[in-house]
Amino acid sequence: MNELEKLQKQILKCRICKKTFGFEPNPIVFGNKNAKIMQLGQAPSKRANETNKFFDDQSGKRLKYEWYQITDEDFYNPNNFYILPMAHCFPGQDSNGHDKNPPKICYQKWGCQELELGNNKMYIVIGAKAAKQLFPHEKFEDLVFKDNTHNGKPVYVLPHPSPLNGRWLSKHPDFLKKRMPYIRKKVQEALNIK
Ligand code: SF4
Repeated sequence: MNELEKLQKQILKCRICKKTFGFEPNPIVFGNKNAKIMQLGQAPSKRANETNKFFDDQSGKRLKYEWYQITDEDFYNPNNFYILPMAHCFPGQDSNGHDKNPPKICYQKWGCQELELGNNKMYIVIGAKAAKQLFPHEKFEDLVFKDNTHNGKPVYVLPHPSPLNGRWLSKHPDFLKKRMPYIRKKVQEALNIK
């Protein structure tokens, strides 16, 4: 068992946030050490909490089929993607029905170790909260529109594909017009998809 697998085993047993959540945490992990892309995101959605599957919702449809333009077979291949959320458990929802923020402790305890243990060729970072972990001093908009690096590997930053994020997308039309086609090419190249 490699270091990343050992860590995943520990994460699956973690219940640190039980008191904060007020319900039993359900940690979800996905991917293996040799995954070509490490994808950083926020936290599992309510649906992911029920299905134990990341991005099996409206955000996922947009991300997989419109932005990456890849199949579920490619996305849910643990040799292709390592999915690293800022928190491995669904954190619950507020009174407006919005998902609560991912608890910071999860990334501090687990995520920052996972980040360094993969043999991935590149990172994709989804959303401003995840981007803040890697690039605390940079503006989110700037990160989205430029090529970044971490540990000498390329990092591409995306806005969150949630249907609730339409305002950001309409304020930044160049993301879908110019930037996403460029990032899509990088993703497909990394996965050897023609
Ligand atoms: S969110 Fe992270 S730290 Fe909290 S219980 Fe789940 S795995 Fe543990």
